[in-house]
Amino acid sequence: MTDHAHVPLLQGSCFCQAVSYAVFARPILSAYCHCTGCQRLTSCPFIHTMHFDASAFTWTFPEPHESRLDFYDNILKPYKRRYRCKTCGVGVASHNSNTNRVSIWGATLDRNEDGKIVGWDIAKPTAHQFYGTRMLDVNDDLTKWEGYESNSDNLN
Ligand SMILES: [Zn+2]
Ligand SMILES: [Zn+2]
Repeated sequence: MTDHAHVPLLQGSCFCQAVSYAVFARPILSAYCHCTGCQRLTSCPFIHTMHFDASAFTWTFPEPHESRLDFYDNILKPYKRRYRCKTCGVGVASHNSNTNRVSIWGATLDRNEDGKIVGWDIAKPTAHQFYGTRMLDVNDDLTKWEGYESNSDNLN
């Protein structure tokens, strides 16, 4: 379904807000990811990632999208195309052509006046994935997994 007449559940943008998006479904997966790919692609020790069916995702900035959006095809996973803003360089989403899912990163979600993420109850992570390659220990109540949640060895 590409006609989204209803209200988006989550919205976000790159840092300079030239590139923005909306999603119209709850995440299939929401986790803190400690994999070496996320670490190296974002220069961060770990990220908050969410997966959605591609039909639930839409860009919300004016066409033509190529004028503001650049992409990078992962040399290790060529089926994963990462989209980034041409102006500020921030990665805002990636598309997996094997699964037809889109990943977005929680830190790009819209904030309220206090800096809190709008829709956090929908977006918030339920686990730590690829925790075996973590750069730091996290002492929270979420489950820790060697790979994806419930699909790998539990490290708790
Ligand atoms: Zn930008
Ligand atoms: Zn990852």
